[in-house]
Amino acid sequence: MRTRCCLLPTRLAAIAAAVCLVGSAHARELVLVDEGRARCAVVVPDEADSFTKMAAGWLVDYVQRATGTTLPIVGESESPDDISLIFVGHPRGTGADTSELRDDGCRMRVDGRTLHLYGLDSPVRGSAVAEPKTGPWLYHWESGQSRRALAVGAKGTCRAVTRFLETFCGVRWLMPATEGVVAPKRDRLAVPADLDVSFNPAFSFYIGSAFYRSQLSHPESYANNTRSSVRIRHYGGHSYIHWLSPAEFEEHPEYFVLHNGARSNVGHHVCPSNESVRRILLRGLQQTFDDGYDWVELGQSDGHVPCRCDACLAMTEDDGRRMLLLHKWICDEVARSHPDNTVLLLAYGPTGKPRSDVPFGRNVVVEVTGAGQDRIEAWKGFGRGMTVYHYWFDDGMGMGWGPKMTPQEAAQMVHYYRDNNVIGIFGGGGRAWGLIGPTYYVLGRMMGDPALDHRQLVSEYCDGLYGAASQPMQAFYELLYSRKYWHLAHRRKLRWSIEESIVHLFPPKVIHGLEERLRRAEAAADSERARAWVRTTRDEFDYLRHMSRMLHLYRAYLVDENAAIRRQLHESVNGFNTWRQRIVRIDGERALNYHPGHGYLAKFLTTGANSGWYYDAWHDLRDKTDYEGLDRTGIGFSEGSSLNEPITLDFDAARPQRAFHLVQAPSPPTIDGKLDETAWAGAPATRIDGATPTHVRGLYDGENLYLAYECEEPMIDKLNVQDLYRDGEVSLMDCVEFMVAPESATYATRYYHFLVAPAKDAVMDLRTGFRSGRDQDESWNADGLKIGYRIDKAGKRWSIEMMIPLADLRAAAPRSGDVWMGNLARERRIDAVELQLWSQGGDGGFTDPKAFGSFVFD
Ligand SMILES: [Zn+2]
Repeated sequence: MRTRCCLLPTRLAAIAAAVCLVGSAHARELVLVDEGRARCAVVVPDEADSFTKMAAGWLVDYVQRATGTTLPIVGESESPDDISLIFVGHPRGTGADTSELRDDGCRMRVDGRTLHLYGLDSPVRGSAVAEPKTGPWLYHWESGQSRRALAVGAKGTCRAVTRFLETFCGVRWLMPATEGVVAPKRDRLAVPADLDVSFNPAFSFYIGSAFYRSQLSHPESYANNTRSSVRIRHYGGHSYIHWLSPAEFEEHPEYFVLHNGARSNVGHHVCPSNESVRRILLRGLQQTFDDGYDWVELGQSDGHVPCRCDACLAMTEDDGRRMLLLHKWICDEVARSHPDNTVLLLAYGPTGKPRSDVPFGRNVVVEVTGAGQDRIEAWKGFGRGMTVYHYWFDDGMGMGWGPKMTPQEAAQMVHYYRDNNVIGIFGGGGRAWGLIGPTYYVLGRMMGDPALDHRQLVSEYCDGLYGAASQPMQAFYELLYSRKYWHLAHRRKLRWSIEESIVHLFPPKVIHGLEERLRRAEAAADSERARAWVRTTRDEFDYLRHMSRMLHLYRAYLVDENAAIRRQLHESVNGFNTWRQRIVRIDGERALNYHPGHGYLAKFLTTGANSGWYYDAWHDLRDKTDYEGLDRTGIGFSEGSSLNEPITLDFDAARPQRAFHLVQAPSPPTIDGKLDETAWAGAPATRIDGATPTHVRGLYDGENLYLAYECEEPMIDKLNVQDLYRDGEVSLMDCVEFMVAPESATYATRYYHFLVAPAKDAVMDLRTGFRSGRDQDESWNADGLKIGYRIDKAGKRWSIEMMIPLADLRAAAPRSGDVWMGNLARERRIDAVELQLWSQGGDGGFTDPKAFGSFVFD
C-alpha cells in the first residue's frame, strides 16, 4: 500500500468532486461507476485477513474488466467520509449483523453512502493457507492439497463479493479457465439505495473434486458453490487407518480381526469389541477436533472383513450392528467431550444401513454412500442431517471419460437432496468439460440457489462461451443429454464398463447426429474465443466418435473374425491413435486458457495399467510419457475403469485361441476329491500357468459337467482355508475358479461362475451379466452342484472335484464337436496373493468374458 499512498489523495479528491455532480435522477441509487469513471472507493478493515483482501482484489479486478475503471482501495482508518464506499468485510466496533446467515451466507446492504459486502467468516488460523500451485494442468488438484483447503471453512465475505459481481456487474464464471469468465462491458454501475439482501447457500459444501478450481483463491469456486463452508477433516471415507497404525499389529494383534482362525491386520480391519480399540479411535477423533476441525469423518476401512472373536460374536451376531454400536459409543463420548463438534459418520458396507435400535444424536451427520434414495430414506431421523458420497461421478469410474449427468438430472438431484435434509455433497469429480461443462455449471449454480432454472443456465453458459455458435452448441448438448446418464448409472449399479457404456449410449446414429450439430457450431463460431471453446468440445467429442466406431467394430469382429472386419477395426484403432497422439501433445497455454480438463484427459489416455498416475498431475507426467509406445497402450484407470482391447491388439499377429478339451465320461466319477477314477486318466490335463502349476481336467455326459483341479502347493502347511458357508468370501482363501458360458461359441456376454476352496461348504456360485452388463448375481445357485476336496500334505498338493448339472446351467447336453466359452483360474493366498488365469485378454480381469478361451467337447 505504501507506494499507492501518494496517488490516493488526488484520486479520491477527483472522485469526491464527481460525486457532487451526480444528479437527482438517480437519487434512489448508490452510483459506484458512472460514464466509465470511478464514483466510489473500496474499503477494507485495517486488520483485514488475507481472504478479505483477496475478495477486495477480485472486486477491483472484475469491475475493471467490466467498466475499464480501477476503484481505489483504502484501509478503514483512512477511508474518506465525503464519497461513496464499498466496504468489504466486517467494520470495526459493532461489526456486521450476521444473525440471519448460516454456512458461508452473505449480505449486501446499503447504509447511507456505503455498500456493505460481508458474510460469515471462519477465523483464519495461523498464517494464511497456502494454495496449490496453479498453471497448466494443475487446476484440478488431485490429492493432498485439498485437505488444507478444507481446513479453512466459511468465507462468506468472499461469497458476498462474487454475489455482488454476479448480481450487479453481470459477471459469470462459466469455465475454470482464463477465457472461461464473462464480464459484460458497461460504463455505469449502481445499486438500489435501499439494498438489503441476505443470501444463504442451499448446501454446506460440495467437496471431493474441486472442479471449479481449488477451493481457496479463485472466485469461481465461491460463485459456483464448489467448496466447503465447514472446517472438515475428510479422509475420503476411511479414517481408522489414520488413528490406529497397522504396525500396532506387532504388539497388539488383539486390536485386529480374528479371521480364518487367526488375528490378522490384512485390510486393516479392527476388532470392534476391543476396549483399547474403542479408546484409540475416540482419541484420534478428539485430537483432530482439537487440531481445529469442526467436523471429522469416522469410517471403517474398505473391503470389510468381520471379526469372529468370541467377544465380538457375544456382542451381537449382526456384524454391521457391531460396527454401528462401536461408532455410537464413540459419537456419544464425543458429544460429551466436544459438544460443539460434529462427527461425519460414514454409512458404507456393513454400516451402510441403520439399525432401528442404534440411534445417533444431533452431533452426528450421516455420510450416505451410493446416494440411492433407499439409503437416504433409511437414514432419516438418525443424526441431524445427511451428506451424500457419490464417487462414481469420477472419470476413473464406470464409463470413464464422458458425460455422467445431464443438466436436468443435476437440477433434479439438487432439489431431491435439498428436500430430504441432505446438507453436503462429496463428489468424485469429472473433468470432461467439453462434454459435461453445462452440467457442472448448472450443478454449481443451483447448489447455491435451487430456484434457478437449469435451461436458462445452459443458455447462459452457451451464450457466454460460444457467442454466435450458441444455438447449434445448445442443439449439440440437447442431443448429447437426451440420455439419462445418472439414472442409467444407478439402475446399472455402476457395473458398466467403458466399452458397455460407449456401445449402449453412443450408437452410430447418435454419433452422426452429434457430429452434424457440432459442424454447424464450428461454422457459426465467429470469434477466436468462440472457435477455441467449440474446439474444446470437438477434441472431447472425437473421443466418443472414435471409441464408438472402434468398439462397435470390435464386437462385430468378436462374432465373426473375417478379414474385412479386421481391416476396418485396424483402421479405426489407427484413427483413435492419431487423435490420441494429438490430444496428449496439446500445449500448456491452450490448456490454461481453453481446456480445463485437459491434464486429466491426457492421463486417462496414457496411464494404461499404471494406476498410480491417477493421483499425479499431468504437469509432472508429460515428460515421462512414452509417446512412441503409446499406440498399443490401453486407456483408463485400473481403479474402476479401463479398456485394453481392441487398442492393444497386435493386428500383425494371429489371434491366440486357447482350448480346454472335455471328454465324454465312460461313467460318472465319485465326487470326493480323490481323482482316482480311470475316467480322469482319460481326460487331457490343461495347465494354468503360475509360480506353481495347476492342472484341470474336464468330463461330460448327458446330465453333468465334471471338473478336476489339481493344485501343486509347495507351502501346503500354510494353506489359507477355513470352513465356510454357501456364497461366503471364498475368494479370500486359496481357491479355484470355473467360468462357463454355454450359450456362446465366439463372444460371451454372460456366464456362470464358481469359486471353490478345499474346505467344508467353501463354495460361491454366481452368474454375471444376466440382469445387466457386469452385474454379478450372487443370489443364483446351482442347486445340484456337488463338490469334493482333498488336501494331500505329503504330496504337497490339493484337489477339487466338481459336478455341475447341465440343468442348472440351462444348457442342453453337449454333442461332440460343440464349443462353449469359459475360463479357468486359481487364487493362491499364501503370503502374497497370486492370481492365475488360464486364458487372458480383454481388460485383463478374471471376470472379463473377452478373455475367455474355448471349451471344446471332444
Ligand atoms: Zn473381535
